[in-house]
Amino acid sequence: MSISLTDVTVTYPDGGRTLTALDHVSMKADPGDLVFVTGPSGSGKSTLLAVAGALLTPDSGTVLIGGAPLGPDPARVRRERIGFVFQQANLLPSLTARDQLLLTAHLAGTPRRHAEPRARALLDRVGLSARADRRPHQLSGGEKQRVGLARALMGSPAVLLLDEPTSALDSARAHSIVELVREIVAENQVAALFVTHDTTLATPADPRIHLTDGHLATP
Ligand code: ADP
Repeated sequence: MSISLTDVTVTYPDGGRTLTALDHVSMKADPGDLVFVTGPSGSGKSTLLAVAGALLTPDSGTVLIGGAPLGPDPARVRRERIGFVFQQANLLPSLTARDQLLLTAHLAGTPRRHAEPRARALLDRVGLSARADRRPHQLSGGEKQRVGLARALMGSPAVLLLDEPTSALDSARAHSIVELVREIVAENQVAALFVTHDTTLATPADPRIHLTDGHLATP
């Protein structure tokens, strides 16, 4: 499914004034697109992701997933259609890599007999079959992000939103995560937005949008 934002404006109260975090922004990601969202700190990248992920309702403008508006139950859209990967993998310290994935499936109401093979396949896909029984403190930063990525894919989301997932990693690990994301997005025909301030992660062939002060600009 595609995700599109049309003419989206978001403001925040800022003392007695309002701060415009996104100013009439329009963008689209089609299935299989990995769109890089770059821009300096404070330019509106996280706000864009929050709107795309149905965490924040814009002041004006529309968000469509698969051509349909989010409707009255954005939490359900989030649960059923969207996978998030954050800067920190936010793994539960006491759970093994496998159980991080199984818990997500359990919370989504997926029967264990369906969740187990999917968790196994996803951990294999991100190169962690041999680490499935490890807890977060036994995993490297890059491995934790791979678990976070696998977990985000457990519910077969149509849209994958990644918020600076490589910013805590060294350059080699960051590039290998991006490569993995690129492959997974193509294989699964997910529409993905990848927020980063590291402009070296995108290749010239990648679709990219650049924000400055809440405005879209040509990179
Ligand atoms: P980025 O992710 O590019 O760093 P953000 O989307 O976090 O940018 O922020 C865009 C602008 O909105 C910034 O000026 C920021 O200070 C402001 N902002 C973000 N979140 C809030 C909030 N909850 N309340 C007030 N201002 C906010």
